[in-house]
Amino acid sequence: MIYQPIAWAAFQCWPGVVIFRLETHNMTQSQTPDRARLEASDPDILAALTGEEARQRAGLELIPSENYAFPEVLTLLGSAFTNKYAEGYPGRRYYGGQEFTDAIETLARNRAKALFRAEHANVQPLSGSPMNQAVYLGLLEPGDTILAMDLSHGGHLTHGAPVSHMGRIFNFVRYKTDPTTGAIDFAALANVARETRPRMIVCGYSSYPRDYDYADFKRVADEVGAITMADVSHIGGLIAADVMRNPLDAGFDVMTTTTHKSLRGPRGGLILCKEQFAKAIDASVFPGLQGGPHMNQVAAAATTFKLAATPAFRTYAANVMTNARALAAALTSRQVRLVTGGTDNHLMVLDTMQSFGIDGAKAQAALDRVGLTTNKQVIPDDPLPPMRPSGVRIGTPALTARGIGTGEMDEIAAIIAETLVANGDAGAEAKLRTRTEALTARFPIDGL
Ligand SMILES: *Cc1c(COP(=O)(O)O)cnc(C)c1O
Repeated sequence: MIYQPIAWAAFQCWPGVVIFRLETHNMTQSQTPDRARLEASDPDILAALTGEEARQRAGLELIPSENYAFPEVLTLLGSAFTNKYAEGYPGRRYYGGQEFTDAIETLARNRAKALFRAEHANVQPLSGSPMNQAVYLGLLEPGDTILAMDLSHGGHLTHGAPVSHMGRIFNFVRYKTDPTTGAIDFAALANVARETRPRMIVCGYSSYPRDYDYADFKRVADEVGAITMADVSHIGGLIAADVMRNPLDAGFDVMTTTTHKSLRGPRGGLILCKEQFAKAIDASVFPGLQGGPHMNQVAAAATTFKLAATPAFRTYAANVMTNARALAAALTSRQVRLVTGGTDNHLMVLDTMQSFGIDGAKAQAALDRVGLTTNKQVIPDDPLPPMRPSGVRIGTPALTARGIGTGEMDEIAAIIAETLVANGDAGAEAKLRTRTEALTARFPIDGL
């Protein structure tokens, strides 16, 4: 946000100079010929790309669902696997020429199963949303009841938001968090389950800053005869590294995760399930919902699962959690009210309305101006509308990936709090932006 408009404006005036400067400073040798070709065929898109790269380097990425993909992932996404159709599954494809696609998909599936201690893996979902759709459509009938978390309490759009197609096809009922503790109210959840007899109970979240015991869900599901599904899209990397609990260890039937958030892989989805659901899940993904899988994404996912099994990744995941706790403590000491009072995972929700009298949309815009990327966020039972909610959501996966540690959390909390106190003052914001850039300059992003 700081750098992109400047890079863009500069490009408009001196395109050659800007391209030259960014190329010489930021490109690896192997990328340079491709960039020269792109410069010739589409300079507008190249300028936007270099602007986005500069924005990512200079700014501090605090959106908890974003991350920097492993450099190997970027290489594979731009590889010849992009060219290949591979409808079907290894050994059972509709097209020829599959010796290498079969090999990478088999590796991806086996590595995913080992990483998450799962009986079966499907690595073809194009992203998180079709991944969840494939589970609902494969295991349930239209009109069936699904019990899932209320959106404003932390659930995801694909957990039955009225604006989503899934919300029209299935009968979603809700559980919520307790207003005093902010934790999931399991007694109320069990009551809803007994009254509505759901065919499936979904847990997992996008903005709930706590962990929970999956056995609590499993007990209720067993009592009412429901299938258990955990959508761990945000924390897939943390579960892979065993720094957060794994729902499959608690006997869950299905677990889904995106591969591009805390896992640092390609944009995509992964479905893990018990063997008894394997056939239904595979048929639901293809041919039920999708056509040809993106084999460049499958190759990148395979490498991601290998990297996520290393000691280095375990250290990364542990640091994500340590950084989140340090950032939450530093914000709290600056009078910022956090939803549930803190965090047990990688994310936290700041109640900016109550802390500073600023709604989440204004807070997001102010933080953008000082180089901190966040997203506006509804808080439980938010009195304000979704486009102008009461808070912002932040997290630590991306900043941890560039090596930022607990020593920097106090400065980051200070920049956040001082930005919200400055309340749009341009002079104060300019100084705060300089502090953000001084910090990010010390932490280059691997592969970018
Ligand atoms: C991000 C997310 C998804 C959807 O992923 P997309 O790739 O954006 O479609 C689904 N569920 C949860 C919990 C998520 O956080």
